[in-house]
Amino acid sequence: MLKKTTGIVLRNRPHLDADLIVTYLTPCCGVLSLYAKSPRKVGSRFGSSLEPLTYARIGYFGKEQAALPRLTQSDIVKPFSILREDTTAFIRISEALELTLRLLPEREPNRTAFPLLLNLLASLEQEPGNPLHLTFYKLRLLSIAGFAPRVGRCTRCGKTAGRFYFSDGSTLCSACAGPAGGFMELSPPVQSVYNYLLRTGPETVKRLRLTDEVLAGLEALINSHINYTVVGRLNTREFAEGLRSL
Ligand SMILES: [Zn+2]
Repeated sequence: MLKKTTGIVLRNRPHLDADLIVTYLTPCCGVLSLYAKSPRKVGSRFGSSLEPLTYARIGYFGKEQAALPRLTQSDIVKPFSILREDTTAFIRISEALELTLRLLPEREPNRTAFPLLLNLLASLEQEPGNPLHLTFYKLRLLSIAGFAPRVGRCTRCGKTAGRFYFSDGSTLCSACAGPAGGFMELSPPVQSVYNYLLRTGPETVKRLRLTDEVLAGLEALINSHINYTVVGRLNTREFAEGLRSL
């Protein structure tokens, strides 16, 4: 059965000699992997539309439960090639794409993740130097997947609490936490910005001006929580650290 949707390419991987497995984030079916036959041949109808970050209109053919439906059509809506050509920006975005692949199950319909990613790419194209766009994306993706840190109140007794415990994924007061280690202190501004970003729309991110200290605190909370919660470290971060150490 032929199906049509739109999707953003999260990654593509070689398959057999000349084929690719292309994984999309779609509004209809969440993360969706499709098989593309000979896309690297000269004159392939797919052209450059299978590159990561490409937003495309796609058609695919396969039975309802087929392991790997076949991609039959791919027309670029927006290439986002500027983001792909900037190596530093692309490494950062790749980390967000990998997080998406790890947090969202394949073929589970998800209407909020797709517009979130589309907004991230459009925002980064407009404001490539604003680090808050990526942090906002990660924070909201964690929330969609049910892994967002809970911040501001002790999750055991409800009292105000500023220490975030990685093992609980939440702030705890000193009485409830006891001698447990593995925490980071969150300043009141970091806590309020975090809770604000959890509720607000993406358009407010452009208007928000944070001090370097608050931004660093927010990034530390999100990235440390991801490192603790999402099994293993994200490969792209290791890759980026490897590049820095050269
Ligand atoms: Zn408590």
